[in-house]
Amino acid sequence: MGPGHFGIGFAAKPAAPKAPLWALLLATELLDILSIAFLTLGIEQASVTETTLSQGLVYKSIGYIPWSHGLLMSIVWSLLAAGITCLISKDIKTGGIMGLAVFSHWVLDFIVHGPDLPLLFGGSPMTGLGLWTSGPGLIISAILELVILAGGIAIYIITRKRPTKGYNQATNKAG
Ligand SMILES: [Zn+2]
Repeated sequence: MGPGHFGIGFAAKPAAPKAPLWALLLATELLDILSIAFLTLGIEQASVTETTLSQGLVYKSIGYIPWSHGLLMSIVWSLLAAGITCLISKDIKTGGIMGLAVFSHWVLDFIVHGPDLPLLFGGSPMTGLGLWTSGPGLIISAILELVILAGGIAIYIITRKRPTKGYNQATNKAG
């Protein structure tokens, strides 16, 4: 999935006010960032796909992305992000939300990817519901991405705090 992931980051902000928005947005794309790094290092291999109008995404060869997108490692990265955030923010809830933001990437990818998301490592069962692999699925997933992104931004804007009472009192005092 593409920009849809960011929608989750925006939506998570009101639940984790201590976390900066950029960190939450980065968290939702962490697995793709790792994937680029692992591809560059030669540890992972991207799938070879072809897009056709009638069939959607056709996998010509399934890639090897267990380190960034395997279920096991996705859980590990999520827990790591949660732990590091806990240490920095000294707040368990903020850490938990950060971990969930990282893991949300796998969940959304699971819906759209074909079977190139391994449970563990090489040789383990591959998962992926494959919304991308049917003709209308590509269009449906594109709409889904926009809905998630727009919904997340809407939640972020609606719940954004106006200047608090404390702020007003402070200005009054100063005035
Ligand atoms: Zn991904």
